[in-house]
Amino acid sequence: SLSDSPEDAARPAPPPGQGEDNINVVVRVRPLSNKESKAKDNFVVQFPGNGQLLLEGAPLPAGSSSPGSGNASKSRLFSFNAVFEPGATQEDVLNYSGVRRLISMAVEGFSCTVFCYGQTGSGKTHTLTGPPGLFDGQVDPQSPDHGLVCRSFQFLFQQLRERSDFHFVLKASFLEIYNEKVIDLLNPGSARKPLAVRWSKKSRGFFVENLFTVDCEELDDLLAVLEEGMRNRSVGSHGMNDHSSRSHTILTVHIAAERQMSEDGVFISRQGKLNFVDLAGSEMTKKTHSEGKTLEEANNINKSLMVLGYCIASLSDPKKKGHIPYRDSKLTKLLADSLAGNGVTLMIACISPAKSNISESLNTLRYAARAKKIRTKPIIMMDPREALILSLKREVAALQSENDHLRGALRLNGEQLIGDPGAP
Ligand code: ADP
Ligand code: MG
Repeated sequence: SLSDSPEDAARPAPPPGQGEDNINVVVRVRPLSNKESKAKDNFVVQFPGNGQLLLEGAPLPAGSSSPGSGNASKSRLFSFNAVFEPGATQEDVLNYSGVRRLISMAVEGFSCTVFCYGQTGSGKTHTLTGPPGLFDGQVDPQSPDHGLVCRSFQFLFQQLRERSDFHFVLKASFLEIYNEKVIDLLNPGSARKPLAVRWSKKSRGFFVENLFTVDCEELDDLLAVLEEGMRNRSVGSHGMNDHSSRSHTILTVHIAAERQMSEDGVFISRQGKLNFVDLAGSEMTKKTHSEGKTLEEANNINKSLMVLGYCIASLSDPKKKGHIPYRDSKLTKLLADSLAGNGVTLMIACISPAKSNISESLNTLRYAARAKKIRTKPIIMMDPREALILSLKREVAALQSENDHLRGALRLNGEQLIGDPGAP
């Protein structure tokens, strides 16, 4: 077959994920809430299958349109990488959202980001971390309520155990952006003195100065970071009932893969990253516009969310190749390496199925559909020595394959190889 030819073996191996979308967009539709059920709110979402979702429009007044006028229905059909119905479990989201591929890629050295986007109350926090109160008391790690973050951590450790060719060093941080102020969720004292976001020349990226980063040797260490941050988030929001709808949280796991060169030489060969982002409620951007706020006031409502929208709009429109305004907000600065096209992204759009929320749901689905058009070229954050090792490995594989090919050809001719290099 073609793939056995030496030319093919000499070609660089495609990076994982090539040929697949590097931005996956899935939708999760939560069940009707008790309040919605009690109010006899209608369920306006349908699931035709194959990643499709139909949002039923408001019924038109009788006789307002004739059949075939093209105006008979305002229902809208959307298509995504996957759609989760209200019956989907937290485990289903792990298994069918594509997050497993993201985690494997983070282990390989890519920058990977999972976002939850949607209006307040649509299920963002439920999807990422679980229902409210899960982290209030004693946390049961086996609880079926655990969200995608905890499940991803478990899967990450499975992956690491399978890669014995590297030694992995994990560090985690957990921050909140509220009113364009960065607060360290692992160091509640920072609420009084917000942290600065700075540019690092060395790593050519933005970073948060003095952010606590915790060494995580085991799964339990990562889970402790999650628990601690979740507790501080709810304590910090005391007395402000819309705090969580206005704030973004970013939980980051840095995954450094180290290679042993000799007895005493170790170097960091690849530097992967996994971000989990719980965004502010998407209704916030609308508030900014509808209330005719000045720029400064808009800052206080939600600059980061607005700028994220501009970035996604610019990235998804090939005609607008020019300026992408990453630098205009804290959130987009910190996610720039993922958004800028070097990373791999999973966006989970969360919606309510209720008719009373249909216009917010429509906004969310449109935003998600736009994000799906973004094309990125992820790159591995690799040490030059690692790149050399890989290219040498490929050369060896190519020579090996050429050799095998030759031997095969000689055998075909009925000849015997003398001094077979493969023989001991
Ligand atoms: P958001 O973070 O988007 O504001 P939440 O995650 O807090 O929304 O969800 C609002 C409420 O709906 C919570 O009580 C949550 O547990 C519940 N909920 C959200 N999604 C689901 C779901 N898929 N299944 C069951 N309950 C859900
Ligand atoms: Mg929330």
